[in-house]
Amino acid sequence: MRPSLAALTVAAVLATAACGSDSGTEPAGGSTALDVVATTPVVADFARAVGGDRITVRQLIKPGVDPHDYEPSPADVQAVADADVLVRNGVGLDAWLDDTVTAAGFAGPVVDTSTGVPLREGGHEEEGHEEEGGEAREGEGAHEEADPHIWHDPTNAAIMVGGIEKALAERDPDGRATYRANATAYRAELTKLDTETKAKIASIPAERRKLVTNHDALGYYCARYGLDFVGSIIPSFDSAAELSGKELADLAGKIRQTGVKAVFSEASLPPRTAETVAREAGVEVVGGEDALFADGLGPEGSPGGTYLGAERHNTDTIVRALGGRV
Ligand SMILES: [Zn+2]
Repeated sequence: MRPSLAALTVAAVLATAACGSDSGTEPAGGSTALDVVATTPVVADFARAVGGDRITVRQLIKPGVDPHDYEPSPADVQAVADADVLVRNGVGLDAWLDDTVTAAGFAGPVVDTSTGVPLREGGHEEEGHEEEGGEAREGEGAHEEADPHIWHDPTNAAIMVGGIEKALAERDPDGRATYRANATAYRAELTKLDTETKAKIASIPAERRKLVTNHDALGYYCARYGLDFVGSIIPSFDSAAELSGKELADLAGKIRQTGVKAVFSEASLPPRTAETVAREAGVEVVGGEDALFADGLGPEGSPGGTYLGAERHNTDTIVRALGGRV
C-alpha cells in the first residue's frame, strides 16, 4: 500500500513547522525582554509605562493614523505571530485584531484593556427624535453601540493600566514587582492629570462649557468633566459616517443657538468639513497645531506623543478656546 495523501500532507506540515521554529527569534541568552505588540498609540503608551525595560513594545497603528478603518499589513501579522503578549483597546476600535490573530496563529495572551471599564452607550440622537404612530423600533440600534474612546477619562485609563499590569505579571512572574511599581507610579500620574483637568475646566465660565468636535470621541471626557456635548461633524463613534448638507446646516444652527464658542478638529481627520460648519456658524475652528488628539497621539518625542501629554494638550486647547485659564 502506498502512504495516503493525508499522511504525506501531515508530514510536510510538520517538517515546515520544525524549520519555522528554528528560524524564529528566540530570546537566546542576553535579551529576555517580552515582545509586546499593541494596537493603538494609547495602549502602546500604557504598555511602555507599565513594562519599562522588561518589555519591547511594537505599536501597530502609527501616530496620526485613523484607527477606525485600520488595515493590518503583512508585517503586522508577522509581528503578532512573534509576540509574547498582545494589548488591544477593545470595544470594537481594533476589531480587526481578531482576524490578525487567526492569520498569525497567535495563541498567547491578549489583553483587552477595556475589561472592567464602565462603557458609555451611544445615545446623543435620542433627544428630539420622538417616535410617532406607536410603531415600536427597538431593534434599530444604530446608536446603541458602545463608545470605544474610553481612555479620555483618566479613571478608565487607570483600569486599562491595571489590565496590562496583570497580564504582564502572569506572562513574566519575575517582573511582577516591577510591573506593580510602574503601574502604581503611572496611576499616580493619572490622578494628578485628573485633578489638574478638573481645575482647568472649572475655570471656563459655566455657560461656555460646551463642546463640538470632529467626531464623537470625547464623550467620556465630557461626562467626567461636566462639559455639554453639543454635537459632532461626524455623528458617530466611528470616523466614517457623514452628515448631509441639511444636517450640517442644522448643526451650525445649533452652534449659534447654544452659544458654542469653537469647533475642534482632530489630528487624524481632515478638517475641511469642520471648517465649513464653523464658518457657517460664525465661530472659530481650532485646528492645525491645536487639533485635538481624539483617536491617537502625536508623533513620538513631541509633547503630544504620550497619553499624558496628549490629554494635557487637549484640555489646554479646549480651556483656552472656551475662555478659561490654563
Ligand atoms: Zn474615534
